[in-house]
Amino acid sequence: MATRIEFSQHGGPDVLKAVEFTPHDPAADEVQVENKAIGINYIDTYIRSGLYPPPMLPSGLGTEAAGVVSKVGSDVTHLKAGDRVVYAQSGAGAYSSVHNVPADKTAKLPDAISFEQAAASFLKGLTVYYLLRKTYEVKPNDVFLFHAAAGGVGLIACQWAKALGAKLIGTVGSAEKAERAKQAGAWQVINYREENIVERVKEITGGKKVAVVYDSVGKDTWEASLDCLQRQGLMVSFGNASGPVTGVNLGILNQKGSLYVTRPSLNGYITTREELEEACNELFPLIASGVIKVDVAQNQKFALKDAARAHETLESRSTQGSSLLIP
Ligand code: NDP
Repeated sequence: MATRIEFSQHGGPDVLKAVEFTPHDPAADEVQVENKAIGINYIDTYIRSGLYPPPMLPSGLGTEAAGVVSKVGSDVTHLKAGDRVVYAQSGAGAYSSVHNVPADKTAKLPDAISFEQAAASFLKGLTVYYLLRKTYEVKPNDVFLFHAAAGGVGLIACQWAKALGAKLIGTVGSAEKAERAKQAGAWQVINYREENIVERVKEITGGKKVAVVYDSVGKDTWEASLDCLQRQGLMVSFGNASGPVTGVNLGILNQKGSLYVTRPSLNGYITTREELEEACNELFPLIASGVIKVDVAQNQKFALKDAARAHETLESRSTQGSSLLIP
């Protein structure tokens, strides 16, 4: 028997229940993975709450984990039983001790990367990869704004930006988070509970403002983010931690300086196995060499059955960096 987290109605963390189940064999294009560490992502809370409803209820949850291949579908040639792997974009169900995953969404894990490091950094690292390398190609000395800089995605972004020689201005919600983002390589940090984001960005940049803003907070920061942009700047709105941005009058882009907006997602950038391999070839060496560190604090590692508590903690805004479920 295996254990997985399910929910049969949308709502708060308490809708998440641990259930026992008998795993079925993987389909021809899938592998079965015994999960050793499971990544918790903010998107999991959107699926649970109903902001991004799953195809049907009851549903599993989670799209990212690292573990060992236990069974291989008949059409899969690049993976075998016993391989150490990590996957993201798996479809709901990674919050489980065992999960059948499309082989094309699964990457072999270098020995130098532990299961916990992998589960803490794969989906989030792939996200930072496409944001900083594809959506807007960040160059040395580029100055840009990145919200939630001490979060899971944020701390990876701080370190990746530093590795690129770029100057990331991060926003955070506490003094402790400011310190953590700084240590991770943020060039400047704005604690928005004490400082006005737009005023500080103007001050830091000597009035020039920035060419790109990466905004995963959504509703609460939309307007301030636009006000931090130079003429023809790019607003990358990639998340909804405070709620989705809706009802936008496009005229605002004209008023604020002929701005561009994009609303990207991982699936729009990494779809094929070739695209995944290209991304892994950039991400894995950064993790394996310690240029990007993704150590997870002990109080952000939760037993699988405590998924509800893990969600409560993530949504309370008290976490720094990534959080994990351990089966
Ligand atoms: P985080 O660890 O970053 O947690 C979210 C953080 O957002 C909080 O810690 C908090 O930091 C900040 N925040 C600001 N306002 C709120 C609010 N009203 N409620 C809750 N949190 C708030 O999560 P992840 O690293 O998992 O994800 C970060 C973001 O990136 C999410 O919005 C997620 O949806 C998005 N994302 C998008 C992807 C894509 O491809 N489009 C892929 C992966 C992630 P603080 O206290 O410092 O403000």
